[in-house]
Amino acid sequence: MTEKTNLMYTGKAKSVYETDNDDYVIVEFRDDMTAGDGARKETMDKKGYYNSIITAKIFEVLESQGIDTQLIELEKPGTLIVKKLDMIPLEVIVRNIATGSLVRTFPIEDGTKLNPPIIQTDFKSDKFHDPAINDSISKAIGLASQEELDFIKETALKINEIMKKMFLDVGIILVDFKIEFGKDKEGKIILGDEISPDSCRLWDSKTMDMLDKELFRKGQDDKVMSAYEEVFNRLITDEDKAKWNL
Ligand code: 5GP
Repeated sequence: MTEKTNLMYTGKAKSVYETDNDDYVIVEFRDDMTAGDGARKETMDKKGYYNSIITAKIFEVLESQGIDTQLIELEKPGTLIVKKLDMIPLEVIVRNIATGSLVRTFPIEDGTKLNPPIIQTDFKSDKFHDPAINDSISKAIGLASQEELDFIKETALKINEIMKKMFLDVGIILVDFKIEFGKDKEGKIILGDEISPDSCRLWDSKTMDMLDKELFRKGQDDKVMSAYEEVFNRLITDEDKAKWNL
């Protein structure tokens, strides 16, 4: 039994606690939802429930296909026990379809299929507003070595292939997503944070309806939680529900 002790860190949507085990931390997924660098903030009932379970499910599938993740276990809905990592402040973004900031920044039409996928990195920093960053800058500011950056990007593309299939099997197109990595105490690079409708763009493959946080960014707040519930219902099997007592 891992018991939480001190609050280590409060982010925009999650709180991280130390535990009585030096190697583990507890992540509580809250119902807070923010957009525009935290300019808009609302509470969305059950968001923490859905996102924690969706993250646990995706991380388990990734683990089963050879990707190291920080997940130890879903302790209960809303709460994950994870391996303690020293997080690398890079947001690694993979895109299969052009939309969002890509089409606002570059001359490419919204909806263009991207094959091969595009991979980008942003520097995760509230102070600097998450600017785009490349390998040279990442090395110069001491975020990671070239070997580590290469490993991170190669792993992100593998994760994309696994997730694309996982979502398509349940009628969802994985448009793009953001992931983060950290180092464990042996210095090994491991997938951390979350993968959920907060950090992915997901479209229904039949209707092309949005099933993710973009609804909130566009001010369609009343549709947000039914979209997250839909993703949950499609990904989480009866077996998962039995295992996690849902
Ligand atoms: P874009 O750069 O088009 O705004 O976002 C690309 C993808 O990365 C989207 O799936 C978006 O949800 C995700 N993403 C980018 N930045 C962030 C961020 O700061 N937080 C979260 N949760 N997701 C992000």
